[in-house]
Amino acid sequence: MERLEENAIEILNLLCGNSGCVISDSGGKDSSVLKHIALKCKEKYNLNFSIQHNHTTVDAPETVYFVREEKRKYEAMGIAFNILYPQKTMWQLIVQHCTPPTRLMRYCCSDLKEYSGHGEKLVTGVRKAESRNREKNQGVVTFPRPKKELKEKTKNNENFALTDKGGVILFNLDNADSRRIVEHCYRTSKVLINPLIDWDDEFLWWYIKKENICINPLYGCGQTRVGCIGCPMAGDRRWAEFEKYPKYRAAYIKAFEKMLIEREKRGLENKMKWTSGEKVFKWWMQDTNCDGQMRMDEYGNIFEEYGEEDVRFKNSRHAGNMPTAEMF
Ligand code: SF4
Repeated sequence: MERLEENAIEILNLLCGNSGCVISDSGGKDSSVLKHIALKCKEKYNLNFSIQHNHTTVDAPETVYFVREEKRKYEAMGIAFNILYPQKTMWQLIVQHCTPPTRLMRYCCSDLKEYSGHGEKLVTGVRKAESRNREKNQGVVTFPRPKKELKEKTKNNENFALTDKGGVILFNLDNADSRRIVEHCYRTSKVLINPLIDWDDEFLWWYIKKENICINPLYGCGQTRVGCIGCPMAGDRRWAEFEKYPKYRAAYIKAFEKMLIEREKRGLENKMKWTSGEKVFKWWMQDTNCDGQMRMDEYGNIFEEYGEEDVRFKNSRHAGNMPTAEMF
């Protein structure tokens, strides 16, 4: 099993030993392991690396504090740790794009997370075990948006593959020619190096425990993943997130209100018949209850049915009483 640790250290040394690299830190457990591996590679091969975190403006407060603490810790070791702030917040992007972010329109990822990393070797904690999408579209090295020249160069090379999403991935580093191609192309095409690509969950957790790696406290609250609050890719988990962080829910609704005003200004058709930020929010959360549909709980309290649970009702000072107009 510890071969995986050794491999990860060797990948970093083989690809970044000469030029150095930037470790991408999302604030999640994989990033914490990656930083630990980079430290080991520094000890063994004197790897030169810095750390970078993209603040998304929709991170959980726990993640924000954890990242700041990590920054202090690594800077005390003499390792540069940059927190990058986007030009526009999620709330401004919603208004600018005139639509909420959705599974098919993830403009926020490119504007909040993926704008950096050109011309440098960006190392990520991406693992195939995380999702089928990653299994298909990520390799030990990934060029997410390769130039035509790179596609040509790797076309008939068995060590490389073109992915469904138009990226180019490298399967392994055994071949010196393949490594040279990566070396040659990283200044012109964005390159992601993924030393943990083959780590499964079981090994990752075992390793965290064995090495006593400090991770985001949200994992101690039962969360298996940390990420943007309200991410359209998070499915039903969003209900629990908005219950825990009601201010974020209010901020999304406010942004949707502003978005509707902007849509009207631009003369965009209102196909969804949105009339308020709240209605957009319900659509966005795929809440299939009819507007105004009432529900009665086991104590006889009546309230508007809203998703799986009526969040407003639960968090309200009125909980346990009959609802009042100000609640809706
Ligand atoms: S909300 Fe989801 S889709 Fe948007 S930036 Fe965050 S992770 Fe990417």
